[in-house]
Amino acid sequence: MEAIKPKKMVGKDVLDELVSIVGAQYVATDPEVIIENSQDALKQVFPAEAVVFPGSADEIASIMKLANRHRIYVTVRGGGVGYTGGAVPVRGGIVLATRRLNRIIEINKADLVAIVEPGVTNYELQTAVEQQGMYYPPDPSSWKESFIGGNIALNAGGPRCVKYGNTKQFVLGLDFVTPTGEIIRAGTRTPKNSTGFHLEGLMIGSEGLLGIITRCILRLVPKPEASRTALAIFGDASDACNCVADFTSSGILPVALELLDRTSINAIEDYEPTGLPREAGALLIIEVDGLRESVDREARIVRDMCMKHHAIQFREALDAKQADEIWEVRRKMSPAVARTGVIKLNHDVVVPRSRIPGMLEFIEDLSRRSGFLIPTFGHAGDGNLHINVMLQDCEEETRRRGSDTVQSIFEQAVALGGTISGEHGIGYAKAPYLHLALTDPTIDLMIRIKQMLDPNGILNPGKIFESSLEAHEVGFINSDQLCC
Ligand SMILES: Cc1cc2nc3c(=O)[nH]c(=O)nc-3n(C[C@H](O)[C@H](O)[C@H](O)COP(=O)(O)OP(=O)(O)OC[C@H]3O[C@@H](n4cnc5c(N)ncnc54)[C@H](O)[C@@H]3O)c2cc1C
Repeated sequence: MEAIKPKKMVGKDVLDELVSIVGAQYVATDPEVIIENSQDALKQVFPAEAVVFPGSADEIASIMKLANRHRIYVTVRGGGVGYTGGAVPVRGGIVLATRRLNRIIEINKADLVAIVEPGVTNYELQTAVEQQGMYYPPDPSSWKESFIGGNIALNAGGPRCVKYGNTKQFVLGLDFVTPTGEIIRAGTRTPKNSTGFHLEGLMIGSEGLLGIITRCILRLVPKPEASRTALAIFGDASDACNCVADFTSSGILPVALELLDRTSINAIEDYEPTGLPREAGALLIIEVDGLRESVDREARIVRDMCMKHHAIQFREALDAKQADEIWEVRRKMSPAVARTGVIKLNHDVVVPRSRIPGMLEFIEDLSRRSGFLIPTFGHAGDGNLHINVMLQDCEEETRRRGSDTVQSIFEQAVALGGTISGEHGIGYAKAPYLHLALTDPTIDLMIRIKQMLDPNGILNPGKIFESSLEAHEVGFINSDQLCC
């Protein structure tokens, strides 16, 4: 990208204009609000100069026009629980927080459509549609905090995406405000649409660089009648991986197929003992859903599949409470892993399902060679592994070795036919590695699209194509074990 042009600070004149657009109670400059809105789940703070809470697309359009006139940076924020720093104002300026845009506008069973504003949480949407017998499958584990706007801007996934697909499979239409302040209506509420370019698609995974999503038309599916959940433990990780890779040959597609490796199992037992065997190679959590009769049959196939691949324990939940207990194991993963080191380099590579065994073998070997603990878990059913390189101190030398280790992981994922992010996006955290996954002409085309829509380069600078930090400076610092 071009050299960074210095932008103006948010002065009193700008604050006055912001107040005239949204009202005084929705413009904040007090330090507490600034700090709260200037970080995400990575917990690295880059303070904004002001936070603004607009209540409509028209207000957002006015804010963007004002920001262009004054050449002030704007960073869009959803729930603020991203893992790659996308919502963090790395160059200061204004944070545009979308939490007031939180209306569920319509849920329509006949059309299998929901229309919502971007500040609705994933949990609120799921709860509302399920009450009416429908289902919105994308389910990031951050569902209680993350917003639909953030989910779309990152193309979020979750355990259930194996069968149903990621967020992008559920977006029919979007309204968005361009970086220069035009309001665009893309897509329709119909399942089919071949009318011009799919501009809504351009916004999916755009990480707040191409516009601000203000209204979302989402596809729903009927709520499955029944589901079954099972937990299978394998003595050898390769058996669990082969089981995942072999599932397609079984003729069924589980709704969820989660894997935890031995290091992750031990992290859970250290954090809150659940009786998992520490010597196990890996465990799988498998869920099937659908019509009651077909679920019974699929559950038998799941058991047979696990036995064929030498599971040493197999537990099937008999009711919703037991299913929840199984999922509780998975929910403990993030806090358990965070406690295994001082800095967590948390990445979400994706490889073709058939290459998971190769990827896990590589990680085991890399952990031995580098000396870093690398707990690996995640949505194995769609090849998406959360790989956590845990650093035990904050020395620069350790951090540099950590980022070299991350680079090797990314290179391996790409070599196996995968890519460097399956759902968390690039933000600033993965920007130094983008060239590993995309060709130069591809990156160049993306930059030209960005420049065409945002000629003054004011919306969400310092992300995807450029980073304010060097690779070794990125990482979640665990404040419980803080040493730096
Ligand atoms: C414990 C934990 C578990 C997680 N599990 C998962 C998981 O299973 N699957 C998964 O995919 N992710 C997961 N995540 C990562 C993250 O929560 C999700 O990616 C989520 O989609 C982020 O949503 P958000 O609203 O917090 O977005 P934010 O962090 O606020 O923003 C993310 C990006 O979207 C942009 N953005 C936000 N709103 C808009 C808008 N209205 N218009 C345009 N751009 C916008 C921002 O500028 C930023 O670039 C997890 C995170 C945590 C902390």
